[in-house]
Amino acid sequence: MRSNSFREVSSGGAPDLFQNESSALAKALAMHSIIDAEAAEYRQSLGELIEHFERLMRETRRLIGRSDRAEREMQALAQQLAYRASHDALTGVLNRSAVIERTTKVLRTSSAVMIILDIDEFKRINDDYGHPTGDAVISGVVDCLRRIVGEQGFIGRVGGEEFTVLLPGHEPASGAMLAERMREAISESVVVAPVERRITASFGVSINEVGTGFDTAYGLADAALYRAKRSGRNRVEFADR
Ligand code: GH3
Ligand code: MG
Ligand code: MG
Repeated sequence: MRSNSFREVSSGGAPDLFQNESSALAKALAMHSIIDAEAAEYRQSLGELIEHFERLMRETRRLIGRSDRAEREMQALAQQLAYRASHDALTGVLNRSAVIERTTKVLRTSSAVMIILDIDEFKRINDDYGHPTGDAVISGVVDCLRRIVGEQGFIGRVGGEEFTVLLPGHEPASGAMLAERMREAISESVVVAPVERRITASFGVSINEVGTGFDTAYGLADAALYRAKRSGRNRVEFADR
């Protein structure tokens, strides 16, 4: 009985993937060495060889197809893993370590405006409406940021309800304007049922020259954010320069 796959095992137990092909080849070689065999004998030997050769080609094509599929699946998995390692699962924005990495990279070759924002009185939302509603508020705020930031910069989630927006190469004035637009848009358009009170966030902004380190850019914006919180929330404050 012929098998139509390579998974054959020789009598010794060790797999001989080409057992059938080897014996067909041995028979063909033996026939080839006979110089005066009948034409019908040559023909039969050639026929057997053709049969095995065609099977080998079919199997090889199948295996190549399978290995191509496996390679594509591996690449897709590697991409998924890289995405998960650098993005926040709830909102899809960059996670803390990716924010640090990207910011550090940008600031090596460019100036950048860094904006940090933190949702105001967020604990009360969790306490009054539950954690899932708190999550919905976080997602609503991020959607709002996405609409405003677009391709101008990148958004990250650096803490529970604290986000960064980095604007590479932005002029201080346009960065400040964008922060103000974000503040206004959150307070006017983020509405999450059943939360009835207005959702707002406070902002700290630092303007950073090329060569500034992440800690400095973040520390300055964070100090400004702290001032915004102390001054009554739902406002934008700028780092002292
Ligand atoms: P403030 O205006 O001073 O920022 O007040 P706050 O109540 O927002 O205070 P704080 O920023 O310290 O509150 C953070 C809260 O966010 C505490 C924590 O329970 C909650 N939190 C952190 N991560 C998540 C999350 O992924 N989902 C939800 N629903 N809540 C979170
Ligand atoms: Mg907060
Ligand atoms: Mg916070």
